[in-house]
Amino acid sequence: MNKDQKAALRRELLERRKALTAETVRRASLAVAGAIRCLSEWKNARQVLLYWPVRGEVDTRPLMAELWQRGVEVLLPRCREAQPGIMDLACVSCETDLRPGMFAIMEPNEATCPVMHEYEPDVALIPGVGYAPDGTRLGFGGGYYDRLLAEPCMRQTLTIGLCYEFQKLDKLPAEDWDQPVRAICTENELCRI
Ligand code: ADP
Ligand code: MG
Repeated sequence: MNKDQKAALRRELLERRKALTAETVRRASLAVAGAIRCLSEWKNARQVLLYWPVRGEVDTRPLMAELWQRGVEVLLPRCREAQPGIMDLACVSCETDLRPGMFAIMEPNEATCPVMHEYEPDVALIPGVGYAPDGTRLGFGGGYYDRLLAEPCMRQTLTIGLCYEFQKLDKLPAEDWDQPVRAICTENELCRI
């Protein structure tokens, strides 16, 4: 698969996702949340990395609210404006800690949520445009999560790619820098790799 084919595949999958109805997103997100909640790693987690959903992504907000209630540390990424491709993590304790950031995604407010330098999330929920059965991830093309997941402090983390069943692909080419996830969760099933 060359660069153009990869870009075309991204476009096609993103268009399909954007066309999902709010009800489909809601139902699939409920199913995904149900599967995640059953994991022992989730039940025992003390720190979790999440993402703020945009453009039809599986909705992680109900899970986020639960973690806040349980007193589990919630980490969210913040893109570095001056360094494309790099994200910092910050701890967020409520929705008012968020403000619109790059790519129109809600991010931790710099004023109230300083960069975290030492973190070791027990679980990380990872958005994606597509996933292959071996955990290879198709992202937005910026390599943001490849760089983040390559950090040594993510070595023990159960990384779970969240997507819809239609985003599961038979095969994806993996480049040297691509970081696979350790599980994939859709509205139908959660598969560990
Ligand atoms: P995505 O994972 O978002 O789908 P790709 O993996 O296709 O994106 O591409 C990521 C881009 O970032 C590539 O152009 C790659 O050359 C560049 N890049 C350079 N260094 C790294 C790195 N350490 N990790 C990830 N991507 C990198
Ligand atoms: Mg990649």
